[in-house]
Amino acid sequence: MVKTISVPHRKFKVFTRRDLDSIPHLHRFSGDELLAMKAVARVLPFRVNDYVVEELIDWDHVPEDPIFQLTFPQPEMLPEADLSRMVDLIRREAPEDEIDATARAIQLAMNPHPAGQVELNVPSVEGVPIPGLQHKYRETVLFFPSSGQTCHSYCTYCFRWPQFVGLDELKFAAREAESLVAYLKDHPEVNSVLFTGGDPMVMKTKVLRRYIEPLLVPELDHIVSIRIGTKAPAYWPHRFTTDDDADDLLELFEEIEAAGRHIALMAHYSHPRELATPVAQAALRAIRNTGAVVRCQAPLIKHVNDDPQVWSDLWKQQVFLGAIPYYMFVERDTGPKQYFEVPLARALDIFSTAYRRVSGLGRTVRGPSMSATPGKVLVDGTTTVHGERVFALKFLQARDPSWVNRIFFAKYDPEACWLDDLEPAFGESEWWFQAPIREMKASGMQPSWGTRSQVRKRITEFGHVEWE
Ligand SMILES: *Cc1c(COP(=O)(O)O)cnc(C)c1O
Repeated sequence: MVKTISVPHRKFKVFTRRDLDSIPHLHRFSGDELLAMKAVARVLPFRVNDYVVEELIDWDHVPEDPIFQLTFPQPEMLPEADLSRMVDLIRREAPEDEIDATARAIQLAMNPHPAGQVELNVPSVEGVPIPGLQHKYRETVLFFPSSGQTCHSYCTYCFRWPQFVGLDELKFAAREAESLVAYLKDHPEVNSVLFTGGDPMVMKTKVLRRYIEPLLVPELDHIVSIRIGTKAPAYWPHRFTTDDDADDLLELFEEIEAAGRHIALMAHYSHPRELATPVAQAALRAIRNTGAVVRCQAPLIKHVNDDPQVWSDLWKQQVFLGAIPYYMFVERDTGPKQYFEVPLARALDIFSTAYRRVSGLGRTVRGPSMSATPGKVLVDGTTTVHGERVFALKFLQARDPSWVNRIFFAKYDPEACWLDDLEPAFGESEWWFQAPIREMKASGMQPSWGTRSQVRKRITEFGHVEWE
């Protein structure tokens, strides 16, 4: 039974770059400042809804306000020369295609496909690649439903472009679900399917159902958990409370649990303010009432949450509301990274300071973690070995499962912001995982850990499948 939650209804209303002039709160900015925002919004995604505008941003403290920084374009997000090129084009009302071409060139210079996303992760069924699927780590398949490739608001640091599909969503969902099911049937090593995007929660419940219900069949009982990566609990908590199909959504979560699978919402909360409103708290109660578990993750972002107090408040608030701190990520090496990046040494410092301030219940969080080409790399600490100052790193996830939990060392470098900026410690000329990664790239390796027929399996006491 789904419990009705009494928070006021709000109709979803969204602003994109074409609406910048019609957001009354922006009237406090000068014409030049607005023009700069428009220029940035031609290059980086901009989309914000009125709940974020009205309830989350503190307009008395813009532009420094963290949620304003999280959602609105800032002039320094583009290199100065690019910004003035764009401003100039817009000011002299250049033809649209000229503006678009310039914007595209700037985007392409911003490393739009980091971490071998394109060449290394696309799986296939009988040699046919399945777009919308990524299988990088043995246990988990990422699935990008085509109807879930936008968000309720965009984060300024994100570089995934909105792709509206003008097709029949239900038909699309059914077809995509079919390939997903076919792949999973052939891959019993997978025990978790992670729906991601964009934000899968932008889908209507009836569309989401088309994707999820086919996964609940007995032939796929190796799928222990279904996860949904989402920022809706922060940007649009009404999705779980007062939207027309909120009740149906919560029922779907209950059905997943009833079918013997675990449903987890991997909620992206960047700042404790996103957890402070009555509707945000009501959304969490409603989700938790279904048996779903909410696990929380976010990147560490300069201007948004680069402060230990923000993180300890965030984790405490999550624990208080029954959600579980999960990952703190390092900002990826993409998009306007020079604006948002925080050096690894400082990230570690912020993490550790915040971590010390929460009880063990909040220390389920792991981080700072980089989602890099070879895997998820944790910056676990600094230490000195035989007089050399080093970072201790550890794989939390890896393309090769045998690398997981392996510790390795990098020369300490206070400026380094990403794995590529680091050098192996103790005079090694390259990382031990570089040769195998090169091999994977050269062989165009399909990430496969063997199909049903190739790998020996063992059924555990609890009926789970394990692979050797
Ligand atoms: C983070 C991530 C996952 C999930 O990893 P968990 O540690 O199980 O949460 C799966 N696939 C990719 C590509 C990821 O980046």
